[in-house]
Amino acid sequence: MPILLLLLVGVLAYLWWRWRRTTLTRACRWREDRRRGIWRCAFCGAEVAEGPPRVCLKDLQP
Ligand SMILES: [Zn+2]
Repeated sequence: MPILLLLLVGVLAYLWWRWRRTTLTRACRWREDRRRGIWRCAFCGAEVAEGPPRVCLKDLQP
């Protein structure tokens, strides 16, 4: 069943890609606020006009 094997590899690659992406933004969870046209971090409450950024803005604040 080579098709099932291909499917399994595809799923694993997708999970790995998702894991890599989430580790890049592990500190922040950026959500797009379409009504206000901004990106907002659900974790620390930071807001940016364009995004999502790859860093957590709370680290940049004093
Ligand atoms: Zn944040």
